[in-house]
Amino acid sequence: MDPPPLHVVFLPFMAQGHMIPITDMARLFARRGVKSTIITTPLNAPLFSGKIRRDAQLGLPIETHIIEFPCVEAGLPEGCENVSAIRSPDLMIPFFKAMAVFQRPVEDLLRNWRPDCIVADVVFTWATETAGRLCIPRLFFNGTGAFVVSVLHALKLHEACNGLESDSEPFLVPGLPHEIRLIKTQLPPFVKGDQSDSGIREAMEESEVNCFGTVLNSFHELEPGYAEYYRKVMGRKAWLIGPLSLGNKDGTEEKAERGDVVTSIDEQECLRWLDAREPNSVLYICFGSTSYISDAQPCEIAGALESFEELSFIWVVRKGELLPEGFEERTKGLVIRGWAPQVLILDHGAIGGFVTHCGWNSTLEAVAAGVPMVTWPLQAEQFLNEKLVTDVLKIGVGVGAQEWSRGERKIVVGREDIARAMTRVMVGEEAEELRGRARKLQEMAVRANEEGGSSNSDLKSLLEELKSLRDKKL
Ligand code: UDP
Repeated sequence: MDPPPLHVVFLPFMAQGHMIPITDMARLFARRGVKSTIITTPLNAPLFSGKIRRDAQLGLPIETHIIEFPCVEAGLPEGCENVSAIRSPDLMIPFFKAMAVFQRPVEDLLRNWRPDCIVADVVFTWATETAGRLCIPRLFFNGTGAFVVSVLHALKLHEACNGLESDSEPFLVPGLPHEIRLIKTQLPPFVKGDQSDSGIREAMEESEVNCFGTVLNSFHELEPGYAEYYRKVMGRKAWLIGPLSLGNKDGTEEKAERGDVVTSIDEQECLRWLDAREPNSVLYICFGSTSYISDAQPCEIAGALESFEELSFIWVVRKGELLPEGFEERTKGLVIRGWAPQVLILDHGAIGGFVTHCGWNSTLEAVAAGVPMVTWPLQAEQFLNEKLVTDVLKIGVGVGAQEWSRGERKIVVGREDIARAMTRVMVGEEAEELRGRARKLQEMAVRANEEGGSSNSDLKSLLEELKSLRDKKL
């Protein structure tokens, strides 16, 4: 008798930048015959359940399992089940800490189900220990690529931030395959010795070091030196199985259905607007799902856009961001308020550039679409992603952002700097070169996901390893 299919449980952090790739991963596993169960909470389930339902109707072994999230008990406002519901940066650490409430119910489920593996997000610091107790291999997912993890490792190993004379002078990160220079103000507080996260970082690292291995939303050809650094210098087991946005070969409907329950624009209307534009002529502007720009910033972006005689754009404006008076009436660009069908937009041939905050998913989605970037990092590890894009891959130009901040910013990036970076990415010889390199990477990304490609092979070997572990147990 054939052994039963593998059963893998997925536990995503409740933020779009984590749920979107983990959902894609679970769907990818299900396409390989793995029974895939995503654990989530009542208010997060609708963000991806439509897609899961459709896959299940196609006969794929995939399902969602909902557990309650006691916000108030966890010290959070009622209904605060997703990072997007956090209105004050001070609630971020309590939100991370609240992930402890999942330990008991998830452990009960694992004991009942006895799955062959759990893919748990970085924030579930208890997952390695809990899974270990039940003899279930835990795979680690942190939502970034190998470059970021390598840079953070090298910064710590070489104490590169210690003894710097200036906060604003670029310094070299030693021990990496490329010359990477950073400035202190671009780094997250924990890298500079800030301990106010109450040990969460250390707990994350410990649970990563001790787990079965890491799955990365990346592909070997994108960052070969860093995949090797991660495996050899850091000594981690890692499988690069991305870009996950390409893995399921989604059509228009699925592409439009990433993340929010509904997009703020009808996907057909959006496609019609793009169809009427020349190839590579539209600049897409979006700062992801959780980052805020300062109140004065939209005015400067609008000023930069209006300084061009002719520049088509799609600008995703978040709640609370105010555009200058009369801008929307004057402009020929498309303003989307709320949630945009980002992958659908990036994949359209009319898109010529992407002004991005360098969240890892957005970065990879741009790579997968062959679109060069205007990089504008704001927080998290976005400044490191920027370095990969501008200094290593050379498929983007920075606006010159220097200030890491989760809250209000002191520095407003001026319209001239913004327009300069936009011009370099959209117009002229340099733009053509950037686009040429971006297109080559896109080809590699597509190939990585095809039969025999690097991501396809990594996924295969991961599943074989899980099967052989299971067979040994049986
Ligand atoms: N996204 C989207 N529409 C939006 C904003 C974001 O589809 O209007 C998606 C985007 O395609 C990406 C994710 O949300 O998959 C954001 O993840 P990323 O890592 O880029 O940034 P984060 O939001 O985590 O800062």
